[in-house]
Order: sequence, then C-alpha cells, then structure tokens
Amino acid sequence: MKALIYNPDDELKLELQEIEKPKLTLTNAIIAVKGVGVCGSDLVKINQNLVSRGSILGHEMVGIIDEISDAMSKKYGFDQGDRIVSSHHVPCLNCKFCLNQQESLCETFKKSNFFPGAFCEYLELSERHLQYTVQKVPDHLTNEEASFTEPLACCIKAIERSGLKNYQGKAKVLVLGLGSIGLLIAQLVRFYRNDFQLNCFDIQDSRLKLAQLLDLDTCLDEDYDFVFLAAGAKASVDTALKLASRGATIIVFASVNSDAVFNNNEIYYKELTVLGSYSPNLTNLKEALDLISSKKILVDKLISHKANLENLAEKILETKNQNGIKAYLSLI
Ligand SMILES: [Zn+2]
Ligand SMILES: [Zn+2]
Repeated sequence: MKALIYNPDDELKLELQEIEKPKLTLTNAIIAVKGVGVCGSDLVKINQNLVSRGSILGHEMVGIIDEISDAMSKKYGFDQGDRIVSSHHVPCLNCKFCLNQQESLCETFKKSNFFPGAFCEYLELSERHLQYTVQKVPDHLTNEEASFTEPLACCIKAIERSGLKNYQGKAKVLVLGLGSIGLLIAQLVRFYRNDFQLNCFDIQDSRLKLAQLLDLDTCLDEDYDFVFLAAGAKASVDTALKLASRGATIIVFASVNSDAVFNNNEIYYKELTVLGSYSPNLTNLKEALDLISSKKILVDKLISHKANLENLAEKILETKNQNGIKAYLSLI
C-alpha cells in the first residue's frame, strides 16, 4: 500500500513509499482510509522533528472497514463496508488519570496509537479501538465532516475543563486564534452558553471573515471571564493575560512558543486559573459526532486545502503560505 513516511532529510519531510498493508488477525480490523484532517499537532511534529524517521502521521481519520473477523464483527457489531471514525488512542480506564476524566494523560492512551498511522491507504484498529473508540458515521455526513470528530472532541474536553458550562451568572468569553480549533471552540461556547458574551479574535483578516461567516462576533472587549488561547505566539499569551478579568480562567489549547511566558503576578493578583487541555475523553468523542451529525457545530467551511497522497506535503505548505485554515487528505 502507499504511505507517507516521515523523513527529516526529505525536502518536504513526507515521502511517498510502498509498504506492507497491515494484516487481519482474530482481534483487529483493517480500515481503508478515506480521509484525514491534518492536525496542528501533525504540523508541529513535522516542523520541529518531534517524531522518529519512518513514522506515519495523521489521526483525524475516517475510513471504511475493509476486513474484520467474524468474532470481532459479532462482538462489537461492526461489519465489512461500515464507514467509521476512530480516534487514534484508547485509555486504560483504570489508572488515576482515567478515573479523574484526564484519559489523555494515561500511559496506555499514549501507547495505543492505531497502526501505522493515517497518512496511508490502510490501517489496523485493535480490539480495544473496536470496543471503545470506533463509531459508525451517519450516511448524511461527508467524509470531510466526519473527520472533525476527533478535533471537535478535543474542543469539547477543553470546554469541560474550563468550567464554563456550569458558570453561575453572565460571563464574557474570548477565543484568541481562529484556526480550525478556535472556530470549533467558539461554536461550542455559543452552543452551550448562548447567554454569554462571546468575542473572537485573530490577527489575520481572512480568519476574521470566516468567523463572521459563522456568525461569530469579532469585536474585542476586555475583562473576560474565560479566555481560550488557540494561538501560540508570544503576543497572544500577553493579550490573554491582559484581557483576562479578575478570577478568570485561561484555557491553553495551543503549543505555545518557547519565548511566550505567563506573567506570574498577573496570575497571582487576579487569581487566574490557567489550565491546559490537549486530547479528548471517550465521552467527548461520542458527543462530537452527535454535534456534527445534528449540524449544531458546522465544520464544512473549515477545510481550506484538499490534498491527495501525492501532493499532501505541498498542500500543507500552501495552507501555511496562504493563511489557510486546515488541509485535508482525501484518499478517494
Ligand atoms: Zn488532532
Ligand atoms: Zn488510564
């Protein structure tokens, strides 16, 4: 099968190679990959050489069950031909992290990536994926829409961690950084707390325009009770601290540049809560597919560049150079 292999010596770092297709066993399923969203974390890994040579990246995957054993099919109710999404990791559900709604910190979670990755034609899902993370995609959704299940689930987790859903009284919310994650978070804030004042900001006009298309308010105010930081530049950290009200919560949902520093006295005197949110819990994945399926969260405008296995590396560059929102790899 064809696969895009990470090669730090290659000019574009992703090299198309022919490798062996994963094999069916009694306890797995083989998925024909149909589409993959390119995640910001894939880009960070490629740009900063954070993965080893030979790795296959990509995880925001939608595909079709190509092969499954009778035993797995009977046990979990999936059949050959089913269109599915699955996150790449599965938590153990027993460790201290799992028992406290932080499944993405679980050791098992980190070690359980589907094999070999999603920037390729076929991948293998383990029995635990079939048991916990695989969901059938409703017929009315496109592959592109379904591919947002995992990233939207990450955003739902961030909202949960923020405490915004149960906040008493009226709050002001700011989403800083309007890439695909910022635009998903903003829509979720509006969905859960329509009674709050919600503002969104980015330094790029094209992104502000897209936010306006989604009916999001792009004015900037001050004294925010929640600031979602979905941009990692130094200036965005400073802005988040400056615009946070007394007692505010800042949710860090971006890989922040190393020159960006949180000013401790701002945190101390304003009694701020600064927390990170990275990857989802199992319940977030289910809710994400429901919200996409019911069109409560709109994702179809968030793909700016479509690629195939042959030109993904070029399209990723183009997305960056043209200030695009998100690249998507189509294998149809
Ligand atoms: Zn992702
Ligand atoms: Zn665990």
